[in-house]
Amino acid sequence: MADRPLGQIKDTCCDYQSVESIQGDTFAKIQELMKARFFRYYKLNLWRECPFWNDNGLCMNRDCAVETTDESLLPKEWRQDALGALKMSPVGSTFQPFKVCTYKDQDFCLQEDPLDSDTVYVNLLDNPERFTGYSGESAWKVWKAIYEENCFNIVDKMAEGCPTCAATNQHESQAIGLAPAPSNKADLDTLLKDLAAHPDNPNEVCLEKRVYYRLISGLHSSISIHICDEHFDRTTGNWGPDLQCFVNRIGVHPERLQNIYFTYALVIRAIAKLEEYFSEYPFKTGDNAEDSRTREMIHGLIKSTRECPPTFDEKSMFKSDNAKSLYVEFRDHFRNVSRIMDCVGCEKCRLWGKIQTTGLGAALKVLFAYEEQSLKYSTNPSLLQRGEIVALFNTFNRLSESLEAIQKFRRLYSDRIAPPSSSLIEKVWCNVKYLFAQGIRSIFHLSSSMQVPIPKFLTHLLQQQVNL
Ligand SMILES: Cc1cc2nc3c(=O)[nH]c(=O)nc-3n(C[C@H](O)[C@H](O)[C@H](O)COP(=O)(O)OP(=O)(O)OC[C@H]3O[C@@H](n4cnc5c(N)ncnc54)[C@H](O)[C@@H]3O)c2cc1C
Repeated sequence: MADRPLGQIKDTCCDYQSVESIQGDTFAKIQELMKARFFRYYKLNLWRECPFWNDNGLCMNRDCAVETTDESLLPKEWRQDALGALKMSPVGSTFQPFKVCTYKDQDFCLQEDPLDSDTVYVNLLDNPERFTGYSGESAWKVWKAIYEENCFNIVDKMAEGCPTCAATNQHESQAIGLAPAPSNKADLDTLLKDLAAHPDNPNEVCLEKRVYYRLISGLHSSISIHICDEHFDRTTGNWGPDLQCFVNRIGVHPERLQNIYFTYALVIRAIAKLEEYFSEYPFKTGDNAEDSRTREMIHGLIKSTRECPPTFDEKSMFKSDNAKSLYVEFRDHFRNVSRIMDCVGCEKCRLWGKIQTTGLGAALKVLFAYEEQSLKYSTNPSLLQRGEIVALFNTFNRLSESLEAIQKFRRLYSDRIAPPSSSLIEKVWCNVKYLFAQGIRSIFHLSSSMQVPIPKFLTHLLQQQVNL
């Protein structure tokens, strides 16, 4: 189980303590902001076909379903007919409105087209991201495709000496530019360990690719934490935090924990850069008082982040000789990740997957696609669509909730190894026993991995100690 991390967060310009301090100052603010009308509703197409492979339909679990919102309950400006009218020719109505382009050159993400008749509004407060039971091959295939997009040259690397790469699905995979999906979880784990190993070796992987990997891994960690924090216990029928789930998915993988802090640092930097933009942004919820309140809340939130130095230095990126092609590759890979969200086989997971990739895409656009002077509403009103703003702040809220859940799991963990009712001496004894047992487990592990036999009497003695 990883301890509270200390020191500099790799590839950022801040440390863990600064992030925790920003989190302490902003958590209540972002939670409140997400209840505002502007941020509660998100419009998207939940049923677009997976563009990369044939999937086997959506998960039928009750917890996978998304409850949609009737448009008539929303501000007039947000309804389909009003959005369509905005695109009509002012002289006549004989032309059908143009559909919004799927990408602008600066976009890192597939944009939802608000004119698409298949899009629906969802009240995000009614559809929280949590455990749905979605897992198995469909989920692994999506994660694997996402990590492959990250690894830039993984297809060739995977094919080297890999007998399963000649499997039947190779043809289909190559057609879409991906290597075949691993046929079992062990293969997937090996692949992901390989990927994870690279970013920590700065000689092999450039900053931009490390940033990309950490961003995706941080998102994955955050999703896993939400699954564990709001977990459904099938035996008791109750929802609540599941410590073992957290230990297995995050606690024993310090790099996953670090990457969530990284993603937080990058997103908060993008939000802080938008201070001037939001001071002029018209929220248009149909209630001027609420719009001013929303603006003030955003201002308050950004002000809290200023106590700390900037968390991420976007100017250090895309500096090398091949910066231009690397930038295009980075952007196109991320666009692909946003398209892969249509392959997620569970509505609720798809909803939050789309929101969070759109939110991260908006952050990347703010950090890398525009000069500082273009981040003002007066000079660049179309910088962000409404959906991107909703997604950006909801993504930050998800990450903030994950950091909050990490604190909760730390408390649950220390209570497990030393229950709160025990005396100080008992607590100290419990911790000593726990550390001793961990040490002995390491000895067993070392002796088996290095194939050094331990005498039988010693094995017996050590086993007794572990079972203390
Ligand atoms: C976009 C998306 C959204 C989802 N949303 C939900 C949801 O809201 N609710 C829900 O219950 N399920 C959701 N799922 C499913 C969930 O993420 C898991 O896939 C599922 O719970 C099975 O988990 P697992 O333990 O097998 O490992 P997975 O989480 O599927 O991970 C697969 C492999 O990736 C590697 N890995 C895991 N975490 C990281 C990390 N942080 N960084 C690097 N590598 C890592 C590990 O090797 C692991 O074996 C979602 C899946 C996707 C693809």
